[in-house]
Amino acid sequence: MQVILISAILRLSIFNSSYILMSSSEITSSEVLKRLRESGYRITKSRKATLEVLIQKQCALSVPEVSALLLELEVKPNISTLYRELQFLTEQGITQEIVLKDGIMRYEIDQANHHHHLVCNACESIEPVEIQKHLQSVEQSIQSEKRFQILSHSLEFYGLCESCH
Ligand SMILES: [Zn+2]
Ligand SMILES: [Zn+2]
Ligand SMILES: [Zn+2]
Repeated sequence: MQVILISAILRLSIFNSSYILMSSSEITSSEVLKRLRESGYRITKSRKATLEVLIQKQCALSVPEVSALLLELEVKPNISTLYRELQFLTEQGITQEIVLKDGIMRYEIDQANHHHHLVCNACESIEPVEIQKHLQSVEQSIQSEKRFQILSHSLEFYGLCESCH
């Protein structure tokens, strides 16, 4: 058995209400595009493809990773356009920013099923993992013992993935 370094970060934010809602509804790109169109935003080919990539992955992607997946769809936005696009989607509450120990900004769909991350220290792969029930009881005891109102959290496990140990 490998020793797995577990680093738990409880990040508390009043801005992220998706945790409280515990939304498990699958979001579709057509719903998002409809919402953007109704708000008066243009739907470019690259905006549509970026959304499709993020919705398909459902977990954290860095800008170069999004860019590589877009290339597979034969969409080639330049990197600064892509940064702006991801910032825009985050401002619209469609994506959220995820920063792990390596400090790299990643993005994932905000309404993706609530999950945590298994981060491999060797190959830097990121895998989603759901441990919701367990954390709910931890949160309940924190709330009553510390009298701290928890609004959201993030939790990452750092270690070695199956192919790296
Ligand atoms: Zn994720
Ligand atoms: Zn690995
Ligand atoms: Zn959680």
